[in-house]
Amino acid sequence: MSSFTRPTPQPGILEIAAYMPGKSGKPGSKAVKLSANESPLGASPKAVEAFASAAQQLEIYPEGSSRLLREALGEVHGIDPASIVCGNGSDDLLHLLAQIYLGEGDEAVMNRYGFSVYPIVTRAAGARIVMVDERDYHADVDALLAAVTPRTKVVWLANPNNPTGTYLSDAEVRRLHAGLRPDILLVVDSAYAEYVTAADYSVGLDLVRQYDNVVMVRTFSKMGLAAARIGWMVGPDHVIDAVHRIRGPFNVNLPAQLAGAAAVRDVEFTQRLKEHNARWRDWLTERLSGNAMRAIPSQANFVMVLFETDQAAAQAFASLADGGYIVREIGASYGIHNGLRISIGTEEAMRAVVEILSSLEQRS
Ligand SMILES: *Cc1c(COP(=O)(O)O)cnc(C)c1O
Repeated sequence: MSSFTRPTPQPGILEIAAYMPGKSGKPGSKAVKLSANESPLGASPKAVEAFASAAQQLEIYPEGSSRLLREALGEVHGIDPASIVCGNGSDDLLHLLAQIYLGEGDEAVMNRYGFSVYPIVTRAAGARIVMVDERDYHADVDALLAAVTPRTKVVWLANPNNPTGTYLSDAEVRRLHAGLRPDILLVVDSAYAEYVTAADYSVGLDLVRQYDNVVMVRTFSKMGLAAARIGWMVGPDHVIDAVHRIRGPFNVNLPAQLAGAAAVRDVEFTQRLKEHNARWRDWLTERLSGNAMRAIPSQANFVMVLFETDQAAAQAFASLADGGYIVREIGASYGIHNGLRISIGTEEAMRAVVEILSSLEQRS
């Protein structure tokens, strides 16, 4: 059909492979979902209560700048609320950043197994995504810098990264930043910051404060509020100003704003989640590091497990699903066909996963 006979998407849009979310069990099944890095301990009870309270004001537009939420974030993290913008999930903010800083003829650089939303937002903005090889599933700073061209406008870095769980130390992120021209925006996506235990990690705030070309993006999704869709970012004034100009005027709904503010202040819940995660992440990693499997050490709330063959990964996925545990396949969306990504769940779920995978290993 001629492109004159119907509306035609902008160049690049139809090259986008739509995001593939982690699978759920069949409707009505009791399957445990370990495929989307959600909280195994639910949400903060204070956030649930705050969310419910919003039901009394559903006819009123929310305050457009998420002021209450920004104030809570500012208070708990020691940030000026004026330097924060909130979004309908951090996905919303990634799209806005791409729309502002990328266009036709521009390039954005990312590591090969970086978060699969970056190619989507880059292409949606009309720009080209440049994928850079990693070193054993770790972002390679030298290779990233070597991929920068005069067309580069953005570097996307998830730290820790999804789906690998690996991270760059503060020194490595600084080395990456130091090698970038000042007109290139470095987006540090710290979606899993709350789960990091490594002492040489930095969330990215110091860089944001120090330089004019760094932003830090965060989310509540991995902390028990995935359904509420709340993201936030911190950046220099000129970036914050630009994002405010094009964001949806009421982009974070009222229940989300109230639940988010209550969740931020519930630091005990966040701590409990972190401790649970660290304990079972380490346990799972150790138990799955056998001959036929390799668990990549993770700083996030999931572990990527590599199998000897693609078939072994498919078999493991099927056996886990038969046992009622849905994990994340990362072949189609990330090109890691011999791997699975397993979210850290309850103790019961982790023990069951290990039991199922160990029995496979013994049979092979
Ligand atoms: C889960 C995730 C996000 C969060 O997305 P939301 O839109 O806030 O749910 C962002 N970045 C990375 C790397 C993630 O894994």
